[in-house]
Amino acid sequence: MKVFISADIEGTAFTTYWEETEKDKLTYPRAAEEMTREVRAAIDGALAAGATEILVNDAHDYGINLDPFRMPENVSLIRGWSGSPMCMAEGVDESFDAAFFVGWHSPAGTCNNPLSHTMSGKPASVRLNGLPCSEFLLYSWACVMRGVPSVLLTGDRRLTELSKPLHPGLVTVAVKDGLGGLTCCKSPLWVEKQIRQAAEQALRQDLKKARIELPKRFVFEITYKEVKNAVKYSYYPGFKMISDDTIRLTTTDYMTVLRAAVFCL
Ligand SMILES: [Zn+2]
Repeated sequence: MKVFISADIEGTAFTTYWEETEKDKLTYPRAAEEMTREVRAAIDGALAAGATEILVNDAHDYGINLDPFRMPENVSLIRGWSGSPMCMAEGVDESFDAAFFVGWHSPAGTCNNPLSHTMSGKPASVRLNGLPCSEFLLYSWACVMRGVPSVLLTGDRRLTELSKPLHPGLVTVAVKDGLGGLTCCKSPLWVEKQIRQAAEQALRQDLKKARIELPKRFVFEITYKEVKNAVKYSYYPGFKMISDDTIRLTTTDYMTVLRAAVFCL
């Protein structure tokens, strides 16, 4: 059984300030350690359920957050970025049985994680087919495009609630909650235990039933904090301005959405 894991840091157990997510800042090493522990817990759960091969994409910032020395021998680690539109889901292909998302955060425009955003700080809010567009929505659908079901999501409470209806087999762990600038975090010991159990449970289900089909048509809308970005990115092929701060793209090809996401978000 092959498992793909994409890992981020803003939805790990205690990150609250941007500084904690930026390498070279004093508070970063502790957050990177927590990210490694949560990914390792997901790996251990997957191994307990019979996974034989695991590919981890270190998908935050420079992509060099996870400690490679803590990865068991049947794990491969993607570090850095190729520039592909698959972005945070790069590495997944039809040979995988399941996808995990560890440490993910709420989308731009939500108030329950101080680090909520969608790809960059530019968008005020993003919608895909009318749904609040989190990075999880974008890249779990990228996995669906490759025929791989998303079965584990760990992150802030709001993201897990928004995401549960998106995939029938999704097992979630809410590791923290928040309001405005504060977070209320579960103990990292509890978090590791829950993630290990959830990962095992996620793989022990009937994975065929966890599969979904992508919609036939996509409406992708970005509202920017600064109107000048709406004007600029309206020149990206396919986008139209629909108001002073908002652009919209309509397509039947999901790769077109993913390509627009890496260039315009
Ligand atoms: Zn991140």
